[in-house]
Order: sequence, then C-alpha cells, then structure tokens
Amino acid sequence: MASRCWRWWGRSAWPWTPPLSVGSIPSFRHQFSTQETTPQICVVGSGPAGFYTAQHLLKHPQAHVDIYEKQPVPFGLVRFGVAPDHPEVKTAHCGRCAFWGNVEVGRDVTVPELREAYHAVVLSYGAEDHRALEIPGEELPGVCSARAFVGWYNGLPENQELKPDLSCDTAVILGQGNVALDVARILLTPPEHLEKTDITKAALDVLRQSRVKTVWLVGRRGPLQVAFTIKELREMIQLPGTRPILDPVDFLGLQDRLKEVPRPRKRLTELLLRTAMEKPGPEEAARRASASRAWGLRFFRSPQQVLPSPDGQGAAGVRLAVTRLEGVGEATRAVPTGAMEDLPCGLVLSSIGYKSRPIDPSVPFDSKLGVIPNVEGRVTDVPGLYCSGWVKRGPTGVIATTMTDSFLTGQMLLQDLKAGLLPSGPRPGSAAIQALLSSRGVQPVSFSDWEKLDAEEVARGQGTGRPREKLVDPQEMLHLLGH
Ligand code: FAD
Ligand code: NAP
Repeated sequence: MASRCWRWWGRSAWPWTPPLSVGSIPSFRHQFSTQETTPQICVVGSGPAGFYTAQHLLKHPQAHVDIYEKQPVPFGLVRFGVAPDHPEVKTAHCGRCAFWGNVEVGRDVTVPELREAYHAVVLSYGAEDHRALEIPGEELPGVCSARAFVGWYNGLPENQELKPDLSCDTAVILGQGNVALDVARILLTPPEHLEKTDITKAALDVLRQSRVKTVWLVGRRGPLQVAFTIKELREMIQLPGTRPILDPVDFLGLQDRLKEVPRPRKRLTELLLRTAMEKPGPEEAARRASASRAWGLRFFRSPQQVLPSPDGQGAAGVRLAVTRLEGVGEATRAVPTGAMEDLPCGLVLSSIGYKSRPIDPSVPFDSKLGVIPNVEGRVTDVPGLYCSGWVKRGPTGVIATTMTDSFLTGQMLLQDLKAGLLPSGPRPGSAAIQALLSSRGVQPVSFSDWEKLDAEEVARGQGTGRPREKLVDPQEMLHLLGH
C-alpha cells in the first residue's frame, strides 16, 4: 500500500498532501489474524486526538484507517479553538488514511454500524459542549460561553449567529484558564493586530466596533491556583495598548510559599508577583500610563448570579461570593465567607471548561465526569471500541498532552490486534459505510475535497494580507464542491 504524508504546520499554509482514497485500499484477502490482512479501523473525529491516534495505528504495516468527521473540514479545535493569533502551535502529522468529512456519527451513521464494518473503532470526538455555571441569570442576553465566543471568532459554523454585543465598557470572564486568557486577549487586542490572522472577517468587523475597555477574569480560588500558563500570561502582560490590574493585597505572603510549589507554578507565580508588586521601569510605566484598555484578575470570588439590566434585556453585572481557601495542595478549595460583591459589566463570558456529550446510546458514558469510561483508551466492557483525546480523559491538556494519550490508545489497540483480541474475518470498512451514507443522502467530503476548500480559503485571503478567509457556511462549502 502506498504511503502518503499528511502534515499541518500552520493555518497559513495547511500543506497537506492527499490521503489514500478508498479505491486504493487493498482488498481483504485472508483471515484477519494473518500478517497480510488489512485491519480496518475507523476513528471518529479529526482533531489532534483523531489524527495522532491514526498516526500511531498506521505503524501497523497493513492497517487502513478511516477518519470520520462531522464538519466538512478537518482538524477540530486546531481550526476552531486555537486562537487566530497563535498559529505556531500547529504540529506536523504523518500517516496514511482517508478523511471523510460531513459525516456526523450518531446521526448519519451509528456506532454499532461502524463496529460492524470495522475491526475496531476509536472515538476521538472531543468535547463539544461547555460546562454550565448553573446560576440564575445565565440565560440572559449578554451572557455566553467562552466556547461559543471562541467558535464565533474562529468560524465554527454553529456559532456564526452569536454576534456578541460589544457595546459595553466592561466584560467579565468567569474562570482563569487559558481559554479565559485567549478570550480576554482577543477582546483587547488592537484590531489591526488581528487583521493578519485567519480570524473571521465578521468577527473582525464586530471587534473593530468594540467599546470594551476593561476585562475582568474572575477566579474562585487564589493566585496559586490559576489554571493558565506562563506563556499565555506573559502575552497578556505585554499586550499592546493594555495594562494589567492586579491587587497587591491578593499576593501578600505568597513569596514565602513559593518554595513549596513545583517549578512551573513557581515561575508563573513569580511573574504574577512581579507584575502585581513591583514598580515598573520608566518605559513600562509610560506604556501602562498610555494604555487605553485594561485587564485584571479578581481572585477569591465565586459567581452566584448574573444581574439583569433594568429592562431585563441584558446583563448589568455579576454577583460574586467572596471566598477563602481550605485544604492544601491540589485539594485546596474555595469556601464562601458569607460576604457578597457585585461586579458591574455588560458582557459575561463563562469560561469554566468544555464538556463532552454522549455520542450514541450503545456507548457507555460517564455523565458526571463527562468522559467515556475506559482503561488506557479501551472502552470499559466494549471490546473493539477505544477512545482518545478529550473524550477519553476530560477537557484539559494542550495538543502535546492529547498526542501522548492518543499514542497510548493506538498502542493498546495494536496490542489487542496482535493478541488476536479483535474480531476475526474480513470487514468491509469504508465501502459498507459509504453505501449506507449514500442511501441516507449524506455526501462525505474527502481529503482532496478539503484541499479545494483550502485553496479557496487561501485565494479569498489573498490581497488582504490574511493567510485565508475561512469559509463558515457548510452549505456554501458543499456547493463549492458541487455536492
Ligand atoms: P477536538 O480538537 O475537539 O476534535 C474533536 C473532533 O471531533 C472535532 O473535529 C469535531 O468536529 C469532531 N466530532 C465531534 N463530534 C463528532 C461526531 N458525532 N461525529 C464525527 N465527528 C465529530 N492546545 C495547544 O497546545 N495550544 C493552543 O494554543 C491551544 N488553544 C486552545 C484553545 C481553545 C479555545 C481550546 C478549547 C483548546 C486549546 N488547546 C490548545 C487544547 C487543544 O485544542 C486540545 O488539547 C485538543 O484539541 C483536543 O483534541 P481532541 O481531538 O480530543 O478534540
Ligand atoms: P481549565 O484550564 O480547566 O480552566 C477552567 C477554569 O474555570 C479554572 O480557573 C477553574 O477554577 C474555573 N472553574 C471551573 N468550574 C468553576 C465554577 N463552577 N465556578 C467558577 N470557576 C470555575 O479549562 P479551559 O480554560 O477551558 O482550558 C482547557 C484546556 O485547554 C486546558 O488544559 C488549557 O491549558 C488548554 N488550552 C491551552 C491553550 C494554550 O496552550 N494557549 C489555550 C486554550 C486552552 P478552579 O481551578 O478553581 O476549578
């Protein structure tokens, strides 16, 4: 079987070569347990977990891997999550397999149908929902999830109607993770700095009209418990035209505790401490004095209610319970002191984490943890079914973490294959699924189709200095492909 290489280096280039087509899959000639047979494996989801799992599976010299993706375009959160001003995180992938976009598993085809067509199925469909705050006022206009906001500026089709109202002076982001920092940065970055990225034109137009001057990031715990990382904090501190607002009182006594904490947390806290406590040099002081926008961290505050505006048509602020910490290390938790505080704002973004959904009634799902129960990627009590990425371990971790856990799932699957634990006998793979999809009127998007869309996006960006102008309407994408 010919091997081709797929890569992603950056959203500006997307230089992928075509995947293997179904026509190039060698026919199944012998019993599955023999060396020459083709293990037919499918992966659900084409984010980092899907691609890294496929990459590992392709170490098996005969394996064929089909990746099914509900969007017409590949890459998951690499396209729809990673901030447009962070294109350098795109990593390289290599392998041989086929991509089938525009196929939503659980709707267009079921997991049992996939299990019948393939020797093994890997679920790598990420976390497409957000954790709800579950507080009064969450449903008000002027309140949205960071997940939807990120999807909106990154061109995720389902979020294109969001059109956030940025006519207010102050925005509050609930949560202090990297997503919260991404959202704060996009809200405060001078629009001319975003013009050279692949942020959608519609989002850029709204951000150009934005009147948001101050963004608060609210954490229920303290500076030692923030969930963001140092690189992202540094970017925020240096953001052109903005100044940080940190209350030195929150940092009192912290210096003495630094020796107790692991090195990455120590360096992060030192940067926070310097920013909060030290007098800036003349240059930085001048920069901050001339800044027209600001961002601040509010600690020890747990959201209780979104306060409605007088007409009930928007948000006027957030009611926060003042907290103190109990417990030590990882177990440190915020408990309310009984005091309350209102923080006025016109926009509330909840950034307290993503959440996976169940995909199919036949697949076990732990709705409390929001993951598919598994042991090292083997779905509990369902032989031949595996999982990787955020749906396997929960919605935390960067692309490198997702890569490691996806390789582990791939390794487990190949071990089971070698041990004869997967179904024996030939499996039709994509041929059977394509027939099913066709009978249901679903037209998959192949990798070469995606390349056409990719070329179109790049062409539309040309002349504007932008790497691409993203297509955001699936119907338009299918129309461009003649589907
Ligand atoms: P995803 O990337 O979400 O991929 C899941 C895929 O499955 C999607 O393509 C989805 O469309 C598809 N899918 C869902 N349901 C179905 C279905 N029913 N049928 C078929 N397909 C389906 N990490 C970094 O290293 N650097 C960063 O700068 C960075 N920025 C981030 C910014 C944000 C806003 C977020 C949320 C995360 C960021 N991360 C970053 C983390 C990184 O994106 C994740 O570690 C990684 O994307 C998780 O991979 P995944 O494949 O499990 O999920
Ligand atoms: P996260 O890192 O888990 O942060 C979630 C934040 O929400 C934490 O501050 C958490 O506080 C808070 N929170 C949770 N439940 C809450 C509640 N009920 N009330 C108030 N606050 C609550 O999640 P994320 O920011 O969504 O990021 C997801 C993953 O993607 C992370 O691993 C992140 O590093 C990664 N990512 C990376 C990048 C990058 O590399 N540039 C960019 C974006 C995302 P507690 O700690 O108190 O629970």
